[in-house]
Amino acid sequence: MLRSLSRLSTRLPVRGVSATRCFSAEVSQDWTDAWNAATENMASNVTFEESAEILRNLTKTDLLRATDLRDSPSRFFEAHRILARHAVDHGPGFWIRFTVHYNLFAGTIVAAGDEEQVGRLADYQAAGELGCFGLTEKLAGVQSGLVVQTTATYDEASSEFILNTPHEGARKNWISQGFVADKAVVLADLIVKGESKGPHAFVMDFRQSGSLVPNVTIDDMGTKTVGNDLDNAWIDFTNVRLPKDSLLRRYAEVDGDGEYQIKGNVRPFDMIGQRLYTGRIAVAQAALEYRRTLYAKTKAYSDAKKMFAFKGEPVLSEIPQLNSLYEENDAKLKELDDYVGECERALGEVLKEGGTPDTRLVDCIATAKVKAVEDSIEMVHRLRQEVGSFALMADAGFKHTDFLQCCKFAEGDSRILMSKIARDRLRLVEKGQDMDSDEGKQALGLAMAMKKHLDNGASKQEAWDNEWKGIYELAETVMARVMKDGPKA
Ligand SMILES: Cc1cc2nc3c(=O)[nH]c(=O)nc-3n(C[C@H](O)[C@H](O)[C@H](O)COP(=O)(O)OP(=O)(O)OC[C@H]3O[C@@H](n4cnc5c(N)ncnc54)[C@H](O)[C@@H]3O)c2cc1C
Repeated sequence: MLRSLSRLSTRLPVRGVSATRCFSAEVSQDWTDAWNAATENMASNVTFEESAEILRNLTKTDLLRATDLRDSPSRFFEAHRILARHAVDHGPGFWIRFTVHYNLFAGTIVAAGDEEQVGRLADYQAAGELGCFGLTEKLAGVQSGLVVQTTATYDEASSEFILNTPHEGARKNWISQGFVADKAVVLADLIVKGESKGPHAFVMDFRQSGSLVPNVTIDDMGTKTVGNDLDNAWIDFTNVRLPKDSLLRRYAEVDGDGEYQIKGNVRPFDMIGQRLYTGRIAVAQAALEYRRTLYAKTKAYSDAKKMFAFKGEPVLSEIPQLNSLYEENDAKLKELDDYVGECERALGEVLKEGGTPDTRLVDCIATAKVKAVEDSIEMVHRLRQEVGSFALMADAGFKHTDFLQCCKFAEGDSRILMSKIARDRLRLVEKGQDMDSDEGKQALGLAMAMKKHLDNGASKQEAWDNEWKGIYELAETVMARVMKDGPKA
């Protein structure tokens, strides 16, 4: 077996720094031990092919099933948390590869596929086949509210879909695992009888016997600051023919007469968007785990580092500014752990029921992600300023802090999420709702300021841009309230 699960780590062990966990049927002590054992010997400086092979072998252990996101959400989240701790020593590459496969690729099939399509996930897993997820495009994607320009046109003559990248700006961009994936979930605008039906998810063979399927072109996105054990590709489709059953069809399909049919009252794209919610929780927890592990590792160093003193034998950890930073970090981590944990449990219930989170939970999850990531970026930066030369050492873990940058923009960038939170709050004001509280007054003040711009001839966008500071301030106020109330209030 290649350098994979069995490779020995030369780094500090990362066990023993986790948030306190309550074991359950889904996450038993036995399961946790097995997952730790299967993942504890992660390697640094592996090639992307080796990294992919590690994931193939990990999936084949069956410790985490592709459907666990629905059947055992706590296990799904715990698996992510444990892996995130390795990012301090090995960077973000493997964690991203893992979550793209389990959350974005398999999770989208679980959410939007019918029974037969979901059933195939077990076959992929047994064969160690990996999947990528193609949503982001060069000029559109996650940041633009899930717009896609890639087209999947239904061809009545052959009962197939024809996948196309209409122009260079519509190329799929940054697709993780694009150089190794056997399967792909691709988001494309479905066109039936000349009419756009909006973005739908298609599952396709991406490679057969290791070679790209015909009419798919890929290239490398380039070298990154961290995570180069993860392959990222841009992808171009030219008349790629997909069989009819490639459309994930739990909520919509093209019938025998070539007519588009919606099943039930769920919009297919709403279910695809669900993956962003599970992803946001997983990302929030990953940021907290990275920070917890880095703080633990740094504290182990500063506890052991003796300092000069006329009296006694102080250690670096006792320096007041560092000591107080450790205490502040412990308190803030606990608050965030508790809050994100509440969001995880609330989302877990929804996932098990196969439903969609309500607006309150959506806001709570967005808040969890923004707060966990932004606070971790700040606290890690401050730690770096206080520990002297240690922060410069290659093995200390600070060189992988761009892991937190990845957390910041993955599954919804902080700015985008905050803009949405503020926009939703302003809508309440437009409807004349909830304006008496301090938050309501702040929102009303912002709405009036924007109206003034509009009255002076500004466009809506110009009014929004002119008040950008107020928008993020309003989002901060809403997030503080949402976090205080929690998902269940
Ligand atoms: C390592 C890595 C792996 C990835 N894997 C995948 C994958 O597997 N599949 C996939 O589909 N995608 C993937 N992505 C794409 C990822 O989701 C996007 O990079 C992300 O959505 C950010 O897009 P961008 O970098 O083009 O940001 P840009 O759109 O260029 O935005 C830059 C910044 O401007 C701000 N901004 C942008 N628009 C607005 C706005 N309207 N209002 C306010 N602020 C704004 C934000 O702060 C944003 O961070 C990956 C990216 C990376 C780097």
